[in-house]
Amino acid sequence: MTPAALAEYLKVAEQFFANPQGSHRYSRIAMRQLDDYRERVAAVLACGAGEVFFTSGATESNNIAIQGSARAGGLVAASAVEHKAVLAPVLARGGLVISVDVDGQIDQDRLRRFLKEHAGQLGVVSIMAVNNETGVTFPVPVFAGMVHKHAPRALFHCDAVQAATVLDLAEFVAPCDMVSLSAHKFGGPKGTGILIAKDTSKVRPLSLGGSQEKDLRPGTHDLASIAAMTVALEAAQLNHAGVNSELSVLRDRFEALVGQEVPEATFTGANSPRSPAISHMLLPGVTSEEMLFMLDEAGIAASGGAACASGALDPSHVVVAMGVEHQLAKGALRFSFARSNTPDEIDLTAKALGEIYRRLQR
Ligand code: PLP
Repeated sequence: MTPAALAEYLKVAEQFFANPQGSHRYSRIAMRQLDDYRERVAAVLACGAGEVFFTSGATESNNIAIQGSARAGGLVAASAVEHKAVLAPVLARGGLVISVDVDGQIDQDRLRRFLKEHAGQLGVVSIMAVNNETGVTFPVPVFAGMVHKHAPRALFHCDAVQAATVLDLAEFVAPCDMVSLSAHKFGGPKGTGILIAKDTSKVRPLSLGGSQEKDLRPGTHDLASIAAMTVALEAAQLNHAGVNSELSVLRDRFEALVGQEVPEATFTGANSPRSPAISHMLLPGVTSEEMLFMLDEAGIAASGGAACASGALDPSHVVVAMGVEHQLAKGALRFSFARSNTPDEIDLTAKALGEIYRRLQR
């Protein structure tokens, strides 16, 4: 958490401890705070306060968007490279998967044909803003427009979790019907998130219980986490352009150095627009597990793909969907950059990567 988010968390936990839903004065005070944070989130995202739903994170937001639309009777569809928190509910609901090309992109002609073919049944189409493994970004406003034109009964949902620190979220929120966000990706606490939902008449709740969040997400509010998330979101969106250019410098430096240290490495999605917060590469002749083990020994924290899939021996579905051959896909590595990283750390990491790779090859 950013220091400001943590300070807000502690302040609210101490001062506004009552359940906002209660009927006494302490609850009314907490409810006013909740309304205030909701309005601040809406102001950042340029949407209506009534369109902001607080959730326990993007997994829940995505599930409400996907499974909630399926429960309302619609066919669900998503790109093949979505996070499991979208893809698993799509598959569980018998939904359709939209394929990607070798650059991790969705071909617009194919998407148009897909939408026209299924226009009558589609309830929701979900395409992410930034891929969490490769950093590849998608032209979400274009896709949202295509869905609204060719499948007008369908809602367009965007998992914008990875966009919050580096892109302008309002640009995603404006053309979409639903957007998912997760606080811990932009300096807020874990276990807290947002679903923007503009028309809930075609979305059913997954949990039944109290009347919180207009029945769409019942359960006692975690006001302190919502407060911390709001403060973190405001700061992240105020600084996204600066962070984007700072991280671009670090990422480009890293990839140039890795290119020298390990000429065999290929950078995934390099021909696509990408978020500068992520560098994903394929290393022939080694496995992610052995590389990660030795990087960890050197004090370098990286991953093979999504953190939630770590420990899995199968290659990532994202890389496989991009047509990477099975053996090469097993040598996938993902590095993430933050503002707190220094050029020295970048240099050390690239050097260590080269040494470890050569050692493993020997
Ligand atoms: N969607 C994307 C793109 C993510 O990167 C993540 C988390 O890594 C999630 C969804 C899940 O978010 P949460 O951990 O808040 O449930």
